[in-house]
Amino acid sequence: MATVAISDVRKSYGSTQVIHGVDVHIDDGEFVALVGPSGCGKSTLLRMIAGLEPINGGTIAIGPQVVNNLPPAERDIAMVFQSYALYPHKSVADNMGFALKVAGVDRAEIATRVAKAAEILGLTDLLSRKPRNLSGGQRQRVAMGRAIVRDPQVFLFDEPLSNLDAKLRIQMRAEIKELHQRLRTTTVFVTHDQVEAMTLADRIVVMQAGRIEQIGAPLDLYDNP
Ligand code: ADP
Ligand code: ADP
Repeated sequence: MATVAISDVRKSYGSTQVIHGVDVHIDDGEFVALVGPSGCGKSTLLRMIAGLEPINGGTIAIGPQVVNNLPPAERDIAMVFQSYALYPHKSVADNMGFALKVAGVDRAEIATRVAKAAEILGLTDLLSRKPRNLSGGQRQRVAMGRAIVRDPQVFLFDEPLSNLDAKLRIQMRAEIKELHQRLRTTTVFVTHDQVEAMTLADRIVVMQAGRIEQIGAPLDLYDNP
């Protein structure tokens, strides 16, 4: 676990500034949701934390370390995407273990970590299946398993549930909540769904046109008379 400190972060694409001096300090173990209308900059901010987009000003620190110039693989984060991006020709177990294999982790350790993540996510009986033989919810679980096995300091979720039907979305939402209660990994979760944010997050960051409009606990933001 680690803090994520976002200080006066700015981002432009060409001459268009899309993030205007954003400040958010996320506590160790905290679950923060980023919400706001399409195009307000949620995904850009998340991708900057991941190192998938360079920042044009300010600093991002994970724990004590300023990560501005670190590539994604050196940030000790794991990201879960909306599109599962699973390898179609690899089994569930190989999909979950692949990043560890690339990182040079030995086979026994990979097997242990994959088995543990599979148990947490209810995938134990599906480890030898190929993604095409899984349901949407099972695929999303594999995508989460791929993040869990890396045991990162920070989880980054980019609208992971928005491709799922309503029933499954509610079920997966509960599973993500349970996962956070179990692992207590610092989490940043992008969603355009207010209910999802309220159900999951300790604090909600409301963005609007590249700025932070409000930050607060769910009840403080939405239940004020
Ligand atoms: P959100 O995730 O809240 O929908 P984004 O972070 O995707 O918003 O986008 C923020 C703004 O940046 C939008 O105006 C979007 O059009 C713009 N943008 C995002 N990615 C790029 C890019 N690669 N090139 C140019 N503009 C971009
Ligand atoms: P794996 O998740 O098993 O490493 P890939 O290497 O194919 O699988 O990555 C899938 C997606 O995750 C790609 O879009 C890649 O850019 C992104 N990605 C991979 N590693 C990281 C990382 N450390 N941080 C953020 N995104 C990453």
